[in-house]
Amino acid sequence: MALSEFEIIRRFFRRETPLRQDVVLGIGDDGAVVRVAEACDLVISTDTLASGVHFPADAEPSDIGFRALAVNLSDLAAMGAEPAWAILALSLPEAREAWLSGFARGFFSLADEASVQLIGGDITRGPLAITVSVYGSVPRGEALLRSGARPGDLIFVTGTLGDAAAALELDLKTAPAAHARALRQRLLRPIPRLIVGVGLRGVASSVIDVSDGLASDLGHIVEASGVGARIEVASLPLSEPLCDLVGRQQAWKLALSGGDDYELCFSAPAMRRALVTSLAHSSDCPITQIGVIQSEHGLRYMMPDGSLLTIARPGYRHF
Ligand code: ADP
Ligand code: MG
Repeated sequence: MALSEFEIIRRFFRRETPLRQDVVLGIGDDGAVVRVAEACDLVISTDTLASGVHFPADAEPSDIGFRALAVNLSDLAAMGAEPAWAILALSLPEAREAWLSGFARGFFSLADEASVQLIGGDITRGPLAITVSVYGSVPRGEALLRSGARPGDLIFVTGTLGDAAAALELDLKTAPAAHARALRQRLLRPIPRLIVGVGLRGVASSVIDVSDGLASDLGHIVEASGVGARIEVASLPLSEPLCDLVGRQQAWKLALSGGDDYELCFSAPAMRRALVTSLAHSSDCPITQIGVIQSEHGLRYMMPDGSLLTIARPGYRHF
């Protein structure tokens, strides 16, 4: 029997026990009501995942659910915000129970871990697409922007780069199973760097999450900040599976122009280097210095032999 949207909401998205005390009214009325902490700014972001564009139509529903929230939380991480609430708008070609329960499982596994409460949404019939909006908070005036990088600031990136792009672009059928699994996991289940994001308040001068590729996203930082940057290609953090599979040269290219890593790229004044190092320890997240902000506009990629690398394709663009 086909499920009505009210049954879908009740069975898959409305939960018995509220996760957060700051939700005055969650799912079920015309709107949600939340209590915003005094002395905080609200940080808001939204992202759509469309079938065939952001994931294949036959992707695991639990991975889709996880990823739809993860890419949004990554934006909050890049603002230094602590996430609190989410809204979920679903466009579905049909209401299939197995798909919905898998989707909800993936979505809530991350929501619970990040203490994010789903407080509302919408369901319509249409091509498969998922829009999530997220809301989080920062102490007043402390949101991290793209625009604060200054010449001399050091440039850092969390985790490793290029893994998700490798999973998307390479044929992994002949790769060792453990490598293939590790790289696919990076694409399907990106981990939003929320703890690092919060820890960067008062430390970073600019932050962005790497969704379209480092070259493209660092480009946004230098543009917004009115500066340029020099990147040491040999210092880009690469995973073992990636280097094993394609070698360092190819891995560098994937790291620079491949998207979907959802790591954080940020700048910080050189005098705060020790704070960055201690944040890497306390958050248990590797953070690597990859370059330096310069006053000369544009991005320069220095190869180990002193030559400049040119990037043919700076990152994914929809239009
Ligand atoms: P309205 O017709 O007033 O827009 P709906 O019937 O669309 O209300 O939704 C009823 C309630 O269920 C609302 O609180 C709405 O936020 C919530 N809701 C709808 N779809 C979803 C969803 N996919 N996930 C979570 N909550 C949802
Ligand atoms: Mg509605």
